[in-house]
Amino acid sequence: MSNPLIKLENVSYKYPNYDVEENNFAVNNVSLEIEKGEFVAILGHNGSGKSTTAKLINLILTADSGKIYVDGKDITDENLTDDDVFEVRKKVGMVFQNPDNQIVATVVEEDVAFGPENLGLPPKEIRQRVDEALEIVNMKEYARHAPHKLSGGQKQRIAIAGTIAMKPECIIFDESTAMLDPQGRKEVMNTIKRLNKEGMTVVLITHYMNEAVMADKVIVMKNGSVYLEGTPNQVFSQPEKLWSAGLEVPQSVELIDKLNKELSLSIPLQVYDSDTCAELIKNELK
Ligand code: ADP
Ligand code: MG
Repeated sequence: MSNPLIKLENVSYKYPNYDVEENNFAVNNVSLEIEKGEFVAILGHNGSGKSTTAKLINLILTADSGKIYVDGKDITDENLTDDDVFEVRKKVGMVFQNPDNQIVATVVEEDVAFGPENLGLPPKEIRQRVDEALEIVNMKEYARHAPHKLSGGQKQRIAIAGTIAMKPECIIFDESTAMLDPQGRKEVMNTIKRLNKEGMTVVLITHYMNEAVMADKVIVMKNGSVYLEGTPNQVFSQPEKLWSAGLEVPQSVELIDKLNKELSLSIPLQVYDSDTCAELIKNELK
């Protein structure tokens, strides 16, 4: 039986100051499930409702209608207390796009300690959590450094460490690699993959196809709604649909799609690494 960590049922949300059209919802009747330990990527062009969905799960915003469950608890319940909200945020951490906006202290380890301190943990426990979190993101040697002197990728890993130190069950990364250079992006993606391997539930909101293909499940959003959902191969084998949602498709899919059409080949549309892709084309053209 499925036991989702996060479950949305027909969730809608409209910003109070949203003046475009009468029924223009930022999130429109969204239902989705995220299993414990799963790695889910959420894709969608700008304004498709990804961040709003994340904020509804994290209770930064409150749904207008529909139900949201976190670890079985109805967080859209009217009688939710401040303690309940705190519990939800402890369970589901968020890492945002701009690392500079997430750093609060002038020394790395103090920054990472900020969350656990807010949990009111004893100093020994805080120390232990900070060390562990820095170890996980591979930034232990920078514990006494000044965050503002670090690279973007390093800063983002510090922000991730700060979230890990709260011991959440799930982390939602909202375009957390978007402002990084390729090296920083790789560092952060390696950290995210490692966290997931060790059991963390990961929700990765991203623009990058090569990041989304690493996920167990891909959810594509369009105009505030879930437009496509499935394994990376199920989703990326539908390039027309992705293009119509304003998205790119992985290079191997685009190439195979063109070859299939222009040369009447029938190579299955899937995400391939370049070696496999070359091999398939070679065999087909023999
Ligand atoms: P995404 O993260 O996919 O780019 P968002 O969830 O940020 O999309 O936005 C969904 C829709 O809600 C967009 O049309 C956006 O313009 C609108 N929106 C986002 N934030 C606000 C806000 N604070 N006030 C009013 N409208 C907003
Ligand atoms: Mg966004």
